[in-house]
Amino acid sequence: MEIGFRSIFIIALIICSGISAGNAFWRLFRLMKLAQPEALVWDLPKRLWIFTKNVVFQAKLFKKPWRGLFHGFIMIGFVVVTTGSAEHILEGLFTGFSFDFLPFYPALALLQDIFKVLVLVAVAFFLARRLLLKNTTLSDVPKHRRDGLIVLTFTGAHIGADLFSFAFWAASGNPHGQAAIRPISAGLGQLIAQTGLSAPMLDQVAWVLWGIHIATVFGFLAYIPYSKHLHVFAAGPNFFLARLRPRGRIEKINFEDETKTSFGVGKFTQFTWKDILDAFSCTACGRCNEYCPTATTGKPLRPMKLINDFKDHVLSQGDALLKDPTAEPAVALISEESGITEETVWACTTCRACVEACPVGIEHIDKIVEMRRHMVLMEGKMTAELQTTMRNWETNSNPWGMAPDTRDEWARGLGVKSFSEHPTAEWLFYVGCAGSFNDRNKKISTSFVKILQAAKVDFAILGKEELCNGETARRAGNEYLAKAMIDANVEVLKRYNAKKIVATCPHCFNTIKNEYPDFGFRADEVLHHTELIDRLVKEGRVKVEAGPDGSTMRVVFHDSCYLGRYNDVYDAPREVLASIPGVEVVEMPRKKQTGLCCGAGGARMWMEETIGKRINVERVEEALEQKPEVIAAACPYCQVMITDGVNGKGQGDAIKVLDVAEVLAAKL
Ligand code: SF4
Ligand code: SF4
Repeated sequence: MEIGFRSIFIIALIICSGISAGNAFWRLFRLMKLAQPEALVWDLPKRLWIFTKNVVFQAKLFKKPWRGLFHGFIMIGFVVVTTGSAEHILEGLFTGFSFDFLPFYPALALLQDIFKVLVLVAVAFFLARRLLLKNTTLSDVPKHRRDGLIVLTFTGAHIGADLFSFAFWAASGNPHGQAAIRPISAGLGQLIAQTGLSAPMLDQVAWVLWGIHIATVFGFLAYIPYSKHLHVFAAGPNFFLARLRPRGRIEKINFEDETKTSFGVGKFTQFTWKDILDAFSCTACGRCNEYCPTATTGKPLRPMKLINDFKDHVLSQGDALLKDPTAEPAVALISEESGITEETVWACTTCRACVEACPVGIEHIDKIVEMRRHMVLMEGKMTAELQTTMRNWETNSNPWGMAPDTRDEWARGLGVKSFSEHPTAEWLFYVGCAGSFNDRNKKISTSFVKILQAAKVDFAILGKEELCNGETARRAGNEYLAKAMIDANVEVLKRYNAKKIVATCPHCFNTIKNEYPDFGFRADEVLHHTELIDRLVKEGRVKVEAGPDGSTMRVVFHDSCYLGRYNDVYDAPREVLASIPGVEVVEMPRKKQTGLCCGAGGARMWMEETIGKRINVERVEEALEQKPEVIAAACPYCQVMITDGVNGKGQGDAIKVLDVAEVLAAKL
């Protein structure tokens, strides 16, 4: 290979891949510009921390240690090997160029040598995973499966060609193959030398491999923007530009803005550019599907498919809009044709397992809620069961449609004061609809009151002045109704100047803590009851003595999504249980961040579940495998769903489903 030819070869590759990649990236950028602006909070230290943690240290990837390790090999290997590729390219353009003037050059060459092998091992691992394991989590988007195979083969060829070019140079005696700084290549060179090929022939083969290595660099650059490996460029910015609001907060609709004629998202251009960047960042790794309760129980919502259907929709409908921004997309965003059906949008429990698992920081739930908002607020579409529940909220401010003036009947005879009777109470116990109206959950309210009274906590309830907190109506897409209930609650909370609030329901807790500030009310402290009980136990204000019989109880704890994944409250309920003499706390395999939803969040509590296996049954089966006497929960929705599942399994007499407060209160 002549030196002149090498220069022309490289310049031609730079021009071709530059034009191809440049065009593709420009198109993607313009598609993002079609969407709405995103209100970014410029907290630079926080953004740098998120970027460093997730991109540099790949924190999320290491949740799956083997996959994280091999992905780390590829990512770091690419960075290290690219320094060698840069040297090759410059050498092709400027004869004799080398980085050997750098003092750390021998160390760099050794690292390149080692990482080439590690990358090839990782490529073999991922190829085997795709070819040998029938991994259903990856099967949603067949073209991405193909794409994954292409890119892995490409990567193998890119790195393999580099490794073997140095091996052939070593075998031919070319100084490129210096044994001292590239011992692995040199070792391979010794094996190759035994083939008896002449030195010029070995040198020629080395230069051909050099050419393959360089061609794959530019080929990869041109291919990336058309493939799922777009994440190589998109994931970093996606993390850096992440939404910084609290996890449990969804964006408020500003109904006062008179310029707004449409609410929610019915067209992709109504999403923000960040939503589109999310979709461009998807690696189609399938992690979200692995943890999603609807995907794992056979329902049509599979988060990886949802995100990729969305991405395909943007790519297929966007070009027409780039030519004429006033044009309507030929395919509706929520439709059979796009793959994002109404059924899919309603199936989500908003459990956040997908968001937690996603290694590139995609926010699935925001998109689902926005599409629900469009269906409910703009098209009046919702399931028949949900219509009834909405009516109940509208007329009685509770989902059961119970008479509002019976909201405080559960507290009769318990010595509980309302804030109107005791306006200086230190704590407000926000009871919520379930704790006020549902017979099973009223017992939890009673148990919690028993604990508060035993610990001599100064508290009061809102009584008849309490309304539904609005959380479930928000997740169901009815922001208008939710706002009406939230505004009324906020007015009462402000009137009583409630500073410390405790709730037995994680949905009330999450929304008052994380969402009410957007509606004009911020308490000094908002706790879930398990957190307050844990504090009271640790302060010695609640004491439970061992029973005389020394009896024991095996308790398995089920995490509530809105308590755990949304608010990081994992330890308090476990520590309360563990503090009770005789209680042995056991865990399910899916726990804490990977805990399986009960199936009731995101307003699913108020919808029929007719497709696939019931999520609560899946969860109860997992709980029963731990051979518990009690399944403990810390959420009224979970309580109902788990109880239902236990009864469905015919275990209602053998296994008790109790709230953490009930387990403790029973021992007082
Ligand atoms: S929030 Fe939960 S149910 Fe909804 S898509 Fe994500 S994992 Fe699935
Ligand atoms: S959305 Fe995230 S977790 Fe799901 S396939 Fe894409 S990158 Fe993987």
